[in-house]
Amino acid sequence: MATCKVCDDEVETLVSVKIGYKTKKMCEDCADRAREESEVAEASEAVVQQMMGFKGRRG
Ligand SMILES: [Zn+2]
Repeated sequence: MATCKVCDDEVETLVSVKIGYKTKKMCEDCADRAREESEVAEASEAVVQQMMGFKGRRG
């Protein structure tokens, strides 16, 4: 048995999920959520960079 550090549930197995540069161990449920969130984070980061790019060009 292992304990998921994200949701504090006891689970059979933990899975490793790569988030950004780090790898975290968590249960399957949290892993699914984390993968989705990291995809969203990457997408929004790109948007922020674009916005900053526009600002920079405008002055
Ligand atoms: Zn969990």
